[in-house]
Amino acid sequence: HADKGQTTLRIVVVGAGYVGLVSGACLAALGHEVTVVDRDVARVAALRDGIIPIHEPGLDVLVAAQAAAGRLAFSTELSASVPGAEAVFLCVGTPPRPEDGHADMRHVMEAAAEVGRSLDGFTAIVVKSTVPVGTGEEIEARLQALGRPAAFAVVSNPEFLREGAAIDDFMRPDRIVVGTQDARALALMEAIYRPLTEAGAPLVATSRRGAEMIKYAANCFLALKITYINEIANLCEEVGADVEDVARGIGLDPRIGERFLKAGPGFGGSCFPKDMLALMKTAQDHGVPLRSVETAVAVNDARKGEMVRKIIRAAGGSVAGKTIAILGLTFKAGTDDMRSAASLVILPQLMRHGARLRAHDPAGMAQAAPLLPGVAMAPSAMDALAGADLAVILTEWPDFAALDWRAAAATMAAPVLVDLRNLLDPAHARACGLAYHSIGRPLRD
Ligand code: NAD
Repeated sequence: HADKGQTTLRIVVVGAGYVGLVSGACLAALGHEVTVVDRDVARVAALRDGIIPIHEPGLDVLVAAQAAAGRLAFSTELSASVPGAEAVFLCVGTPPRPEDGHADMRHVMEAAAEVGRSLDGFTAIVVKSTVPVGTGEEIEARLQALGRPAAFAVVSNPEFLREGAAIDDFMRPDRIVVGTQDARALALMEAIYRPLTEAGAPLVATSRRGAEMIKYAANCFLALKITYINEIANLCEEVGADVEDVARGIGLDPRIGERFLKAGPGFGGSCFPKDMLALMKTAQDHGVPLRSVETAVAVNDARKGEMVRKIIRAAGGSVAGKTIAILGLTFKAGTDDMRSAASLVILPQLMRHGARLRAHDPAGMAQAAPLLPGVAMAPSAMDALAGADLAVILTEWPDFAALDWRAAAATMAAPVLVDLRNLLDPAHARACGLAYHSIGRPLRD
């Protein structure tokens, strides 16, 4: 809720994806007047009809409430939306370029140029997309070259929200990072985020390059943490230790921390793989290779193949002609996002080994189906499991933990479960009649 003393600012958000839509709705909830612009006409039309194009818990209710309060509108017309806005947040995609892994800045540059041509009074152009170090300067130079009379400042304000918990992450951030040397822009950013900082969120004010660097350094560190626990899990399997105990035992040390110590099939998603590639490229360009990050990428890539071999071992040495139930397709639970999901690598490999695949995902099947030709989509987990020779849990959806695994085991042709997320308690799984395999937990059969 906006406080009485809260300044209402006019904000344009460019891009109605995971970041833009969540940021737009949350900025409106902070009391600002927000227009979210996307060039995808169908997406904007749907949003105007109250249809949310992505799966994000709570977003439908928040968007509806803010739109009804008159603080949130949707448009396809960027140049018409910019005049009068005090800040324009760029939240467009920055996917990796296929040729070299460097972040593709096309969408950011196009959007920035269009904003630049429409500026009237002083406007902060706030880059929320994850962009390589130096992008803020590049945008500034290009806009200056346009020769517009209106004053502007290009600010870096990276976003740290997690899909599946995005609204809470935006509204109760661990920190807000603002990179600018422009006093007017900094004051504006402080005003925009005042309700959050007054509620205790720290605001880290730094240079633009500092802010751009913070985003990549944070994501790469988290990816290193996951890679580390995955390798420790491999060793746990050999020495007979339980990686869940090890993770807890080390994670209680605040210097390490408990989060992101969950062993699994390797990280994926729309951010870690691409941000690691982008930072590696920047590092190489500057002659400062980041060997820890390079190694983590290689270890994580190799892990998909290891998971395939683990599944084949659990199937008794071959999956040829066998029907495998795949539970979970998205890169993590709580989202429909399929970008760099482990399933996109593991499933085709299983099919090359001759397996027939029947998959179920609570949110991602519509996104996954065109990406995974040859995989049959099942309307429920139980439908996927019925008659299967083996089941694999690939995404940590709580739905799969809550399944009646005794009934599931009874309906399978062979009750073999490979749990790549350690979602089930091994004793419970075995009591349900499953031949149970998991990650980094010793087999004591
Ligand atoms: P997305 O692909 O879901 O959304 C991008 C949207 O921008 C699309 O709807 C597209 O139509 C629109 N768009 C592209 N060019 C446009 C233009 N010129 N004008 C108007 N609209 C345009 O992307 P996302 O997942 O929201 O990510 C956006 C950025 O935020 C990326 O740089 C990403 O790295 C970063 N980020 C993402 C997350 C996440 O969890 N998804 C978290 C933090 C940061």
